[in-house]
Amino acid sequence: MARTKKVKMAGRYGARYGIRVRKSIVEIESQQRQKYVCKRCGKKAVKRIGTAIWECKSCGYKFAGGAYIPVSPAMKIVEQAVSRGREA
Ligand SMILES: [Zn+2]
Repeated sequence: MARTKKVKMAGRYGARYGIRVRKSIVEIESQQRQKYVCKRCGKKAVKRIGTAIWECKSCGYKFAGGAYIPVSPAMKIVEQAVSRGREA
């Protein structure tokens, strides 16, 4: 039991999310190399230039988004919460 306590957080995290996390890392890495559609000019020319910083190579539009993809899952959750709030 002492051993379990020692690695409580890390141990639990690894057992539960190890494979999922590793899979999502592979997904994220391939996603961040992709080009995304620009919100401003509509061209597929948005590239990640830094952590959460994206730039359109076509029109030069720069914006902050998700760290790995232009729209972060957290932003989607916020959007969902907002729309749900409006309905209620
Ligand atoms: Zn653009």
